Amino acid sequence: MQNEVATQTYQPEHVEQTTCCIVGAGPAGAVLALLLARQGIPVVLLEEHMNFDRDFRGDTVHPSTLQIMDEIGLADHLLALPHSKIYTLSVQTANGSLELADLRRLKTRFPYIAMIPQARFLEFITNEAKRYPTFRLVLGARVEKLIKEDGYIHGVQYRGQDGWHEIRATLTVAADGRFSRVRRLAGFEPHQTAQSMDVLWFRLPVKPGDSTASGGRIGNGHVLVLLNRDDYWQVAYVIVKGGYQKLHKAGLPAFRQELAAVLPEWADRLDTLKEWKQISVLSVESSRLSRWYCPGLLLIGDAAHVMSPIGGVGINYAIQDAVVAANILTQPLTSGRLRISDLAAVQRQREWPTRVIQAFQNTMQKQILTNVLASNKPISVSPVLRLLLRTPVIRNLPARFIAFGPKAVHVSSNKTDKLKKR
Ligand SMILES: Cc1cc2nc3c(=O)[nH]c(=O)nc-3n(C[C@H](O)[C@H](O)[C@H](O)COP(=O)(O)OP(=O)(O)OC[C@H]3O[C@@H](n4cnc5c(N)ncnc54)[C@H](O)[C@@H]3O)c2cc1C
Repeated sequence: MQNEVATQTYQPEHVEQTTCCIVGAGPAGAVLALLLARQGIPVVLLEEHMNFDRDFRGDTVHPSTLQIMDEIGLADHLLALPHSKIYTLSVQTANGSLELADLRRLKTRFPYIAMIPQARFLEFITNEAKRYPTFRLVLGARVEKLIKEDGYIHGVQYRGQDGWHEIRATLTVAADGRFSRVRRLAGFEPHQTAQSMDVLWFRLPVKPGDSTASGGRIGNGHVLVLLNRDDYWQVAYVIVKGGYQKLHKAGLPAFRQELAAVLPEWADRLDTLKEWKQISVLSVESSRLSRWYCPGLLLIGDAAHVMSPIGGVGINYAIQDAVVAANILTQPLTSGRLRISDLAAVQRQREWPTRVIQAFQNTMQKQILTNVLASNKPISVSPVLRLLLRTPVIRNLPARFIAFGPKAVHVSSNKTDKLKKR
């Protein structure tokens, strides 16, 4: 078997030295790269794809992210991109619609979730980063090996468009997502924090007169989310674990009928689903590492903790990890005195909010999703919960939790944008 941790005898064609090498230009990696570049820290961001247009992504930009963008002077530019806004989150129950969260009550300039296609968001962040001379983005760069010498990760080797490259770095950051290769190469093993779920992921066409707002349906045995992606609707349809075989056996017409019962007003566009290959089956995990670092390496975002889709907070958390990492690591990276305790400090600040949200998602999954999928009735909600959700102070808690998580995160270096933009 090929040894994927590089040895000193391997000779790549190109060798480069930098301060921080970030693997993966998703929300975590792109935002961290931008924040470090703003501080004049040399940073190379490696992304295996040639662009940001990928199917399996969410589009939610939460108030916490908008606030972070505002702190670095980018919120208005970001919101100039085409987007829709979600102000309230509600579910259909046996006794009518129940409002779970009203973001308009939050004391923030951004009391909504902005729905911005993630590809556009990542282009925006990396284009901003490109304005700083210490930043370099390499697309089509697939990291396949770690450089490990004397128990320290000194960087990576990647396969690029023009052959093998080596990047040596003071710090390597794994922001390469839920199937993180770097995590595996470094020998880290995540533990599951909730049962995995199956989600059918497919597109439906946009028709004139459609609302532009993303939304969802829950109840009667179904959980369905609709994401507006301008020229098509992205649909996420949650099914019981392993339920795809049964659906497939019943046939596509039966599946279209099932969908028509959930989305009756869209029945006339379901015949665009002509083949099963238009429908991807995603196994959605929830897991976490017990340790997010080792000498020379830090893991953030989904590479450190894969988030369940409940609440749509994975992007939010990935970006908060990036902000905390930049807050803590800017000074040690600038001074060249990075200690393992700095990396531990990042985990310490981010682990407990992650634990809290994963515990919440696990409870929601067990209490609500499993019951909804097992029943063919609308969900019913106790009068006590209804009353609580109308009680001042308490009624704002779900909105706060969804918008900012257990603790809001701020950019500590926002006033010290060290380098003038080119
Ligand atoms: C179908 C689906 C829908 C979702 N919907 C939502 C939602 O609505 N809201 C929400 O908040 N969250 C959602 N999530 C979760 C969210 O997408 C993730 O939590 C978030 O993207 C994590 O960000 P990240 O930067 O850590 O990782 P990622 O976004 O996964 O980015 C990792 C990047 O690393 C790159 N990469 C991987 N391996 C390598 C390598 N070896 N070399 C170089 N590059 C590499 C990948 O190409 C990718 O660009 C959804 C997830 C899925 C699967």
